[in-house]
Amino acid sequence: MKLIELGEFGLIGRIHSKIARKPGVRIGIGDDAAAVEFSPGCISLITSDMLVEGIHFDLSLCDPRTLGRKSLAVNLSDIAAMGGKPRYFLLSLALPELVSVEFLDCFVTGLLEMADEFDVTLIGGDTCASGGGLTISVTAMGEQLPRKVISRGGARPGDLICVTGTLGDSALGLWLLRNGERTGPAVMKHLDPPPRVREGLALAEAGIPSAMIDVSDGLLADLGHILDLSGTGARLALDRVPLSPSIREHPAGPGEDPYRFPLSGGEDYELIFTAPPVLKEKAVSLLESLGTPVSVIGEITPSTGLQVLAPNGALYRPAVTGFEHFS
Ligand code: ADP
Ligand code: MG
Repeated sequence: MKLIELGEFGLIGRIHSKIARKPGVRIGIGDDAAAVEFSPGCISLITSDMLVEGIHFDLSLCDPRTLGRKSLAVNLSDIAAMGGKPRYFLLSLALPELVSVEFLDCFVTGLLEMADEFDVTLIGGDTCASGGGLTISVTAMGEQLPRKVISRGGARPGDLICVTGTLGDSALGLWLLRNGERTGPAVMKHLDPPPRVREGLALAEAGIPSAMIDVSDGLLADLGHILDLSGTGARLALDRVPLSPSIREHPAGPGEDPYRFPLSGGEDYELIFTAPPVLKEKAVSLLESLGTPVSVIGEITPSTGLQVLAPNGALYRPAVTGFEHFS
């Protein structure tokens, strides 16, 4: 069998099935970050994300400084999605010999700017030559108390589904970049997404989310992970999905489904969380105090499956659900 038949999640499942459960591993493969207990009473959150030239970025469309920022941001986002406080990170680089030192200096400047913004420290890594393009791998480590760690698996029927910020901007930004645009809010959201670290941590400290995930593969795909791991379903209201002015101006590429980017576009790095309705006001005021908008877009249902309702009440069928490597 070829990898393309197995798919990204098929491969991860295949590896996962060979791993025995160990007591110190509170949350292993399958969440935004692993939650492990090195010593009792404190959970370490660990996550790794790779950015590969030609797959995750195109050097003709991004600059090295924002690439450095994003390389760390996507990892901080996974710690945030667990409700953790990021602390340390490792940086591994596979580099083509002819890359310029100026490029690498700008990359490191951007990376360390992002590290300063969220008070995380680079503690090591690895560097080697690459026969192909540039590959960047960051491993981030954070911490949280055991009872405050938020997994993808805790959503309960009746919980509200909430999302920070707006959705689809990053995918629109990429589409605009490929069509010659170089600036604007959607392009910046794609190149330099702000990780919702303060938001994830504040929500977890306040005990609000029952489940949480960051949007890396698209709303439908990432909400789908919460539903799978929680053993629940959901009903989403299309007209409640938060859209930015950029998305309203350019709903999608010509002739495309207008909800394609907001529902299926990846890399927004917003947080999707579920919470009981009684905690809604608390969540809204907490996030407002951080200057981050939050929208309630639906609710968790006892029966499995994800229903998306159009404003006229009809069932909406998305053309694409989300991003998966090798498919
Ligand atoms: P995210 O989009 O939040 O970064 P992914 O979809 O990349 O998450 O990964 C899903 C889960 O699979 C995570 O728990 C991740 O640690 C795990 N995972 C991914 N690749 C591998 C691998 N090669 N071996 C073991 N676990 C993996
Ligand atoms: Mg994630």
